[in-house]
Amino acid sequence: MASRIHLPILDDRPKDKCGVIGVWGDPDAVRLVYLGLYAQQHRGQESAGIAVSNGIDLENYAGMGLVPEVFTPREIERLERARQVPEGERAATATGGAIGHNRYSTTGGSKSCNAQPLLETTVDGPVAIGHNGNLVNGEAWRRVFAEQGRLFHTTSDTEVIVHLLASPEQRATPDPLAATLRKLQGAFSLVVLFPDRIEAARDPWGWRPLVLGKLPGGRDCVASETVALDVMGAEFVREVEPGEIVTLSDAGVESRHFAPPAERLAMCVFEHVYFASPASSVFGQSVQLARENLGAALAKEAPVQADFVMPMPDSGRSAANGYARASGLPYREGIVPNRYVGRTFIKPTQQERRAAVRLKLNVVAEIVSGQRVVVVDDSIVRGTTTREKMKQIRDAGAKEIHLRISCPPIRHPCHFGVDFATRDQLIAHERTVEDIRRFLGVDSLAFLSQEGMLSVMRHESGSYCTACFSGDYRIDVEHPVADEVVAKNQIPMFPEAAGQA
Ligand code: SF4
Repeated sequence: MASRIHLPILDDRPKDKCGVIGVWGDPDAVRLVYLGLYAQQHRGQESAGIAVSNGIDLENYAGMGLVPEVFTPREIERLERARQVPEGERAATATGGAIGHNRYSTTGGSKSCNAQPLLETTVDGPVAIGHNGNLVNGEAWRRVFAEQGRLFHTTSDTEVIVHLLASPEQRATPDPLAATLRKLQGAFSLVVLFPDRIEAARDPWGWRPLVLGKLPGGRDCVASETVALDVMGAEFVREVEPGEIVTLSDAGVESRHFAPPAERLAMCVFEHVYFASPASSVFGQSVQLARENLGAALAKEAPVQADFVMPMPDSGRSAANGYARASGLPYREGIVPNRYVGRTFIKPTQQERRAAVRLKLNVVAEIVSGQRVVVVDDSIVRGTTTREKMKQIRDAGAKEIHLRISCPPIRHPCHFGVDFATRDQLIAHERTVEDIRRFLGVDSLAFLSQEGMLSVMRHESGSYCTACFSGDYRIDVEHPVADEVVAKNQIPMFPEAAGQA
């Protein structure tokens, strides 16, 4: 593998919190999960992990870094051995499987102890868990358990799920996992590994994607994105529904609901704008086509006289294509990315940042010099890197720069698993488009409207979360359920589900 150059880049792109994957029963489960993690690397580049079941016990390995950095061939072989039942051990009653996780931290911070899957041993046996999303009431639950004297190994919100699962209140119910999930508020797409099965679940609002697949050998798998199914050679079967738990075991796939889907679903529209792989189909819609259509909608809303359209690589490429097609302007690539530049966690000086941006993205002066260019990007978060890029284009001799963004201004932080920085760090927070234009140093600036963005989505517009643009969080994120109410087990998170086991 070619090594990557790690530069002091302050990467102000939004970061998703994680991707999950699970394979049950396939003899190659570990390698398939490894491939799936590779395919979902864009969902989390801070840590990666795999937990395996041999039908009796669980084992895991997780560490900081990109998937190929964490998993050496030796580590993969060790996990594959852990999938075998040791000689002299009692016969396994299940074939076993594996789950995997890519992580970028939001709640909990960047620490190796937070790398997932988390593996814990409860009174009912071992359990490993991988979580994509963010629990709005995770901190409230943590305080409740901490006051009861429970110990935590991590600072992540995911660990409270295991504590809930192991609680006497949940264990006393016929379906402890369902009872546990009903106590959670916020975004979660989960894979939970037990010795005899994988349970995959999605929150009732459907914030994050989760899909079910069928492997060539007939075994079942689950992943955050369809691109992982493609890489594993699996067929897409269906999405896991909001509020559903899907069990993957030697008996095949079984489904039950721990809660009905929320009346107003909240599928993250930003998965289509930026996060998900363009090769994936998310919420039943091709990400690549959605991005092209966002660009086309932007061209209709914000046309401009120019010589050509160019993308901000790589994320603005699909929208730039759509903008060019709809506007009739030529499409050209005036910025070339350096694919060998990795990311780092070192905070750079201003000078280092400038050098890093220049090394990561090179402007082709022969293309932009003397030209009126439309630059299309998918989003702006802090704006600092965008400003550097615009300066580079200007320095290369562009006559006019018209910046077009294929989503509305991001004015609010995300509480559902995306790291957008704090409200004050968002360039659009309490600033007008004209303020931002002046800061970025471009001749014109336009964002796609929220209506325009939602008009290209497959489902009706009320089914999508738009909180980072609109501030409509759907649930009370400022006042998550109070500790004392939680402690008394009185939280009617899903009143419709009351009485369900
Ligand atoms: S706030 Fe934005 S990024 Fe977060 S879930 Fe909603 S749409 Fe997605």
